[in-house]
Amino acid sequence: MTIELRSDTFTKPTPVMLEAMFSAEVGDDVFEEDFTVKKLEDKTAQMFGYEAGLFCTSGTMTNQIAINVHVRQGDEVICDALSHIYLYEGGGIAANSQASVNLLQGNRGRLTAQQITDAIQPDNLHHPISRLVSLENTVNKGGGAYYQLSDIQEIKKVCQDNNMALHLDGARLFNALVETQESPLEYGKAFDSISICLSKGLGIPVGSVLLGTKEFIKQARRVRKRFGGGWRQAGYLAAAGIYALDNHIDRLVEDHQRAREIGNIMATLPEVEEIYAVDTNIVIFRLNHKILSNDYVQQLNEKGIKAATFGKHLVRFVTHLDFTDEHLAEFSKRMK
Ligand SMILES: *Cc1c(COP(=O)(O)O)cnc(C)c1O
Repeated sequence: MTIELRSDTFTKPTPVMLEAMFSAEVGDDVFEEDFTVKKLEDKTAQMFGYEAGLFCTSGTMTNQIAINVHVRQGDEVICDALSHIYLYEGGGIAANSQASVNLLQGNRGRLTAQQITDAIQPDNLHHPISRLVSLENTVNKGGGAYYQLSDIQEIKKVCQDNNMALHLDGARLFNALVETQESPLEYGKAFDSISICLSKGLGIPVGSVLLGTKEFIKQARRVRKRFGGGWRQAGYLAAAGIYALDNHIDRLVEDHQRAREIGNIMATLPEVEEIYAVDTNIVIFRLNHKILSNDYVQQLNEKGIKAATFGKHLVRFVTHLDFTDEHLAEFSKRMK
């Protein structure tokens, strides 16, 4: 048995999810005639209290579209240095939107209202215009750390007072919500736009949803087409999304429990120097400085355990729908 812990994107659709996909009613979504896509977009929008949603191929696409709608060329995006939008989207902020970036150093990828206030550029022709703040929740590179809603609400106030939009890269937002028990509706009120991945913890094969006002989503739909992301009978995928929203959110707590147990196991190993607090489904640990993460991941591979390198001495595990108690028991045995 291979133990897959590289990412929560490796999950395969469950048999019931596949059935929901096969029986989906579909149409041409570029013509806005795919009933199932509309249903998913409306369902997600309602959940977060937004007017509209846009189903896309990936979280990179939903983030990049959102940035493109929020900023103009030469504007500045304020975000944490660990942000996915900066590190893992192929330089898309520059390439797609010709915007500049103001990188801040947060606490495991989380920014404070004060940090953002201090970072805003003065209204002076020398500077770019600080136009957008983008937060990530949970923070991938921060080991799955999450925000408290009250901290986000303070950030929202700073954005409002300074004429900046606030976007959330919520690739793993549901992982945060099952921990804090906060309401999606409150999240919707705090952000101008939210991107949510259904292909991570929720286990659908492909897809993310961008949320915002009707006008924002109208513009986003135009940008999606320009980026080549208009698609046709996407309802087969949207059906998986609807199924996942109904059935795969509450179970995320199991992923978190198993991640904590992995953290406990790793803490007993002499080669592990430090483990980030395991807050959700991500376990990041730092190896002894004599051990390179590439070599360590290779050794894990030989034991049938797949992990991702996350820096010279950093390794990441991510738990997910297809990582069961049986896998955890086997993991424990192989790490002894
Ligand atoms: C996975 C991820 C995304 C989106 O990635 P895609 O592979 O493009 O779907 C965005 N933000 C974060 C924090 C992620 O972990």
